[in-house]
Amino acid sequence: MTDNETLQQLCADLDGLEMSTEDRALQRYSKDFSWFSPVLVEQLRGKQAELVVKPASEEEVKRVAAACSRHRIPLTLRGSGTGNYGQSTPLHGGVLMDMSGLNRILWIKDGVARVQAGARLVDIDKAAREHGWELRLMPSTYRLATAGGFFCGGFGGVGSITYGSIGDPGNVLGVRALSMAEQPEAEELRGAEARDLYHAYGVNGLITELEFALAPALDWRENLLSFPDFMQAVRFCQALGSTCGTMKKLLTLLADPLPQMCGLEDRIPAGHTAVVAIVNRPGMDALHELREKFGGQLVEEQSHAEVFGTTKSMIEHSWNHTTLHIFRKHKDITYLQSGFRPWENVEKVEQMHHHFGEEVMLHLEFLRADGAVTCSGLQVIRYTSEERLNDIIQFHRDNGVFVSNPHTYILEDGGKLTVDPGQLAMKRRLDPQGLLNPGKMRTWDEEAAA
Ligand SMILES: Cc1cc2nc3c(=O)[nH]c(=O)nc-3n(C[C@H](O)[C@H](O)[C@H](O)COP(=O)(O)OP(=O)(O)OC[C@H]3O[C@@H](n4cnc5c(N)ncnc54)[C@H](O)[C@@H]3O)c2cc1C
Repeated sequence: MTDNETLQQLCADLDGLEMSTEDRALQRYSKDFSWFSPVLVEQLRGKQAELVVKPASEEEVKRVAAACSRHRIPLTLRGSGTGNYGQSTPLHGGVLMDMSGLNRILWIKDGVARVQAGARLVDIDKAAREHGWELRLMPSTYRLATAGGFFCGGFGGVGSITYGSIGDPGNVLGVRALSMAEQPEAEELRGAEARDLYHAYGVNGLITELEFALAPALDWRENLLSFPDFMQAVRFCQALGSTCGTMKKLLTLLADPLPQMCGLEDRIPAGHTAVVAIVNRPGMDALHELREKFGGQLVEEQSHAEVFGTTKSMIEHSWNHTTLHIFRKHKDITYLQSGFRPWENVEKVEQMHHHFGEEVMLHLEFLRADGAVTCSGLQVIRYTSEERLNDIIQFHRDNGVFVSNPHTYILEDGGKLTVDPGQLAMKRRLDPQGLLNPGKMRTWDEEAAA
C-alpha cells in the first residue's frame, strides 16, 4: 500500500484531473461483477484502490501513467467495471483509472471504426449504423461495456456465431497503447501485436484507441423458440448455426429448467428448452424449415432494431445476462464457462446433460471457433461446495470439454492454463516496472520473484 506522503505527492502531481480518495468512490470503482463467484467474493474482499482518477484525454492518461511510474504506484484500468472475474479490482491498492472519459468515436469509414477506449459499444454500434455498418461482436453488457474493456477483459458474445471472438484475427485491426513509464510513449500496434493486449486484463499496456472491423448492417429478427425435446433443440441450433445462406447474430439455448429461472417462465412451458435466435430477415424461411424439422415452436418474433439498447431485446437472455437474471432470484447457484470442441460438441453436450442432470443446467451459446460451428457453455450449477465445483470442472476437462474457470482472477488459470508468450513479451515492453494491474499475471510475478 502507498504511504500517505507519497499519495499526497501523487495527488499534487495530478492536480486539475477529476479524482477522488473518498472511501465510497474507492469501494464502488474497485468492484466489478466478481460477486458472480462465491470463490472470488472471498478472495477479493477488502481489495480496493487508494485513489480513483478519471482522465478526459490521452494527455491526462499520460500524466497519470507518468506519475504512477515515478512514484512506483500500481495502476489498474477500468472501463465500465462489468468484468466478472475481478479483472479491474486492484489487488495491491494504488490508482484505479476510469477510462470512460475517453469516449469519442473518432471516425467510421469503409467498414472500420476508430474509437477511444472508453467509448461504449452501444454508442459505437448506433454510430456505425448511420453509415450502413454495425459492430461485428459485442458482449451482452453492450449497453455499458467499453471498447477497451471488451478487448482487454472480454471474449465475444452477440455476433460470435458468425465472427468468433473479439481476439480472432481481423476483428480488431489495431490499438494505440501507451507504455507505463515516467515518460509514456504511444505506440500504434497492428494485427498480431495488437492482439497481444487482447484479454490481458490491462496488465501489459494502456489502450487509448482501438480500430474495429465492422459488418454490413442488416435487418435482424429476434426469435424466441420452444422445444419439448432438449437434444432436438441442440441439433436445431447446430443445424441453423451451420447453414451458409442464413446470416446469424445470436444462437442461445437454455435447457429446462433455466427458462423458468431467468424470466422466461411466462413464455416457455415447464419442461421445454428455450432457444433465442437472431437471424436476418431473409433467413427466417430457413429458420422455420429447421424449426419444423426439429419439432420447435415459435413463441415470439420481434424487430431487433426496435428493441436494441433496451431491456426488451432478447440479448437480455443470452450470455452472462441469463446468469445475472438467475443470480438475482436464486442464491444457491454458481456458474461455469466452457468450450466444446467442434465436430464432437453435440455428443459431448448430450454426455454432460445425462451425467449431471439438473446439478449442471446447460446454457449453451453457439459460436464459430476456427471456422467451425460449435458451442460454449455457461452452465448454471447448484452450488454445494468449492470441492464439488472443482470436481465438476475436472470431469469436464477429463472428458475433453475446455473449462475457462470464472472463479479465478489469475490470467493463466482462467483461460489457457499457460502463459501467452506474446502477452508476456508485451508486458516486458510496455510495463517493465510491473505496475499495471499487478498480481493478475502469475508468470510475470514468478519471474520477478526468481
Ligand atoms: C451480466 C454480464 C454479462 C456479460 N456478458 C459477456 C459477454 O457476452 N461476452 C463477454 O465477452 N463478456 C461478458 N461479460 C463480461 C464483461 O461485461 C465484458 O467483457 C465487457 O466487455 C467488459 O467491458 P468493461 O468496459 O466493463 O470492462 P472492465 O470490466 O471495466 O475491464 C475489463 C478489463 O479490461 C481492462 N481495461 C479496461 N479498459 C482498458 C484499457 N483502455 N486499456 C487496457 N486495459 C483496460 C481492465 O483493467 C480489466 O482488466 C459479462 C459480464 C456480466 C456481468
